[in-house]
Amino acid sequence: MIIDCHGHYTTAPKALEAWRNQQIAGLKDPTLTPRVADLRISDDEIRASIEDNQLRLMRARGSDLTIFSPRASFMAHHIGDLQTSLTWAAVCNELCHRVASLFPDAFIGAAMLPQSPGEPVTTCIPELERCVREYGFVAINLNPDPSGGHWTSPPLSDRYWYPIYEKMVEYGIPAMVHVSTSCNACFHTTGAHYLNADTTAFMQCLTSDLFKDFPELKFVIPHGGGAVPYHWGRFRGLAQELKRPPLDELLLNNIYFDTCVYHQPGIDLLAKVIPVKNVLFASEMIGAVRGIDPTTGFHYDDTKRYIDAAPELSDADRHMIYEGNARRVYPRLDAALKARGK
Ligand SMILES: [Zn+2]
Repeated sequence: MIIDCHGHYTTAPKALEAWRNQQIAGLKDPTLTPRVADLRISDDEIRASIEDNQLRLMRARGSDLTIFSPRASFMAHHIGDLQTSLTWAAVCNELCHRVASLFPDAFIGAAMLPQSPGEPVTTCIPELERCVREYGFVAINLNPDPSGGHWTSPPLSDRYWYPIYEKMVEYGIPAMVHVSTSCNACFHTTGAHYLNADTTAFMQCLTSDLFKDFPELKFVIPHGGGAVPYHWGRFRGLAQELKRPPLDELLLNNIYFDTCVYHQPGIDLLAKVIPVKNVLFASEMIGAVRGIDPTTGFHYDDTKRYIDAAPELSDADRHMIYEGNARRVYPRLDAALKARGK
């Protein structure tokens, strides 16, 4: 079985974006604020938006199941206030739940949280609980920078975040550390802010005792871990200077990297540097990079090709990356699959 741990509903029917634009317009003129009931999307519209896009590509590329969350760049936690985020997250999560209900063999949900800059993270817990208990979601996306590129929140190691971690451990759900749109002109959203955040999150963990406090806590750092695998020697050296334990002991029982790296040399390096037990298959399809690589003739985000071709990996390694590790890191996914006899 091939499990893609990183997919977003980037192809949602246009009515969703129109509703969101109306919600944003309502921040200036409250008479324009739409009701949740004003958003009408039929099951057929959802089916069409998936069948012609993600599902078609999953079938063509040979992946079976995608852990599916709302469109990351649209989370935009910096817009409006807590109520704005609460309503928007509920709307987006419900749509992903509908996708997973219409295509239960191909999609399982991961929740967007209603984060809002300056608000305590406890405000996210009711939505998290709803997504896990009512929708059967198996993970969350946690935004370390809800300000959208200005980094006004405390680091992930700060006690500010602990209420979310307590819930994650209680429910057995990992968090993908995933920022949203950058509203800082210095940082391109998907080309800089995403990769910066991946690297930043890793370093925040390296300099803290977070995983001593939460030995069961699991973070998935997407986009291949940002700069981390490439600079593994720098991080090992920094840990050594700081009198921290070796990285495998300090972080690799809790941190996992996905394979959203869009060329062969990048995957080869990931496979060589990071232990196989810490690598999860993912493509982030259909996402930021949708084109065809003229040097290969294949889509950049067709990441399975790179894993199949990586010389470092054995068949047993590939099985771990495609399925085994995901079942271990996402115990609720494993339980859901076992309940279906898989
Ligand atoms: Zn993503």
